[in-house]
Amino acid sequence: MSEFDVIIVGGGIAGASLGAEIAASRKTLILEAEEHCGYHATGRSAAFYLESYGGPEVAKLTRASGEFLDSPPADFSDRGFLRIRGDLHLARGELPSLPPGVKSRVVERAELERMVPGIRPQWRRALFEPGCADIDVAGLHSAYLRQFRRSGGTVRTSARLVAARRAGDAWHGKLEDGSTVTASTIVHAAGAWADGVALACGVAPLDIAPKRRTMVQLRVGRSGLRELPLVDDAEGTFYFKGESDSTLWLSPHDEIATDPCDAAPEEIDVAKAIARFEEVVDWPVERVERGWAGLRTFAPDRLPVYGFDRDVADFFWCAGQGGFGIQTSPAAAMMAAALLLGQTTDLMTETIDPQVFSPNRFSG
Ligand SMILES: Cc1cc2nc3c(=O)[nH]c(=O)nc-3n(C[C@H](O)[C@H](O)[C@H](O)COP(=O)(O)OP(=O)(O)OC[C@H]3O[C@@H](n4cnc5c(N)ncnc54)[C@H](O)[C@@H]3O)c2cc1C
Repeated sequence: MSEFDVIIVGGGIAGASLGAEIAASRKTLILEAEEHCGYHATGRSAAFYLESYGGPEVAKLTRASGEFLDSPPADFSDRGFLRIRGDLHLARGELPSLPPGVKSRVVERAELERMVPGIRPQWRRALFEPGCADIDVAGLHSAYLRQFRRSGGTVRTSARLVAARRAGDAWHGKLEDGSTVTASTIVHAAGAWADGVALACGVAPLDIAPKRRTMVQLRVGRSGLRELPLVDDAEGTFYFKGESDSTLWLSPHDEIATDPCDAAPEEIDVAKAIARFEEVVDWPVERVERGWAGLRTFAPDRLPVYGFDRDVADFFWCAGQGGFGIQTSPAAAMMAAALLLGQTTDLMTETIDPQVFSPNRFSG
C-alpha cells in the first residue's frame, strides 16, 4: 500500500494550484527541491495578467481564470489578486492582431502622448488592451499552498526527487537525501526540469525547453509611473511597467535557451533592455536597482502539457507553462484536476478542450 495517492514534483504555482484542487480527495504530497516553494519561475515573474498573451488556446485558459483571480471564493482569499492597469501594444508599423475575443482599441499618437508622457516620436500608434492587470503572485501562490495544506496535503521542501520506478501499482521515489516515498500516481510539475524529471522516472521526455528571461528594476527621472499601463511593442522586443512612483520593471523580452538552473541575468541582456527602453521614452535612467532572471519553459508547440503520459501508467504531465503559468493557473489547475481524478469539467473550464494540451499530441 502506497503512503500517498499522489506525489506532485515541484511546489511552484503549477504544483501548488493543482495540489490545492485534488488534496481533499487524494492523499497528496508536494515535493519541492528548494528550501521554499516558488524559488524558481513562480517567484521571478513579471506578474501580469494579459489575455492576448500566448495565442488563442492559452487565451482561453487565461480568460477562464480571470474571474477567480479577480474575485476568488471567500474561503480561498479575502481579497482579489488583480489590479487593472491596461496594456499598450506600441507599433511603429502594423498593429498586432490579438486572439479572438480580446477587447482592445486603437490609440493614435495624440492620445498616446497623454497616456505615456515622454514617448518618442517614432511610436505612432498602439493597441490598448484594457483588461491587462498586475497579479499578486506571492498572494496567489500562498493562497494555493494554504488551501492545499488545509485540505490535508503535505509539503516537503529541500526534497529533490532523483529517481522513481513503477513496481506493481505503486511508484517508488528516491529523494536526494536517500529517503524514499511511495504513491499511486506521480504528477510532474517541475518547471524547467520537466524533461529531466521525466527521464528520472523512466518516462520519455517531450522536448520541453527552458528559456531565460531577464528583468531589471530601474529608477528613472520621472514620477507617476505606477498608474501607467504596461507598455510593450508589437514586435516583441521589450516591455515595462511602473512599479513604484519612479521605478519600473523592464524586460528585453529575451528568450535564451539554457539548461535548467538557478538563472541569473547577464550584463549584455541588461544593457540591451536599457538601450531598447531609451528608444521608447525620454525618461532619464538613474540607476539599475536590481536585476533577476527566470526560466520560462516551453513545449515544442508552446502550449502547456496537461494529462497522463501515453506510455507510462499513472504519470501525469503538468508542464510547459511558458510565460503564462501564473495567469492561467486557476483554470489550468481545475482542468488538470478533472483529468487526473477522472471527473467531468466544471463551469470554469467548460469552454476548454483538454485534448489541445494532452501529451499525446506529440505521438509519433
Ligand atoms: C521573467 C519571467 C516573467 C514572467 N512573467 C509572467 C507573467 O507576467 N505572467 C504569467 O502568468 N507568467 C509569467 N511568467 C511565467 C511563470 O512564472 C511560469 O509559467 C510559472 O511560474 C511556472 O510555474 P511552475 O510551477 O511550472 O514552475 P516553477 O515555479 O519553476 O516551479 C517548479 C518547481 O519544481 C521544482 N523541482 C524541479 N525539479 C525537482 C525535483 N526533481 N524534485 C522536487 N522539486 C523539483 C523546482 O525547484 C521549482 O520550484 C514569467 C516567467 C519569467 C521567468
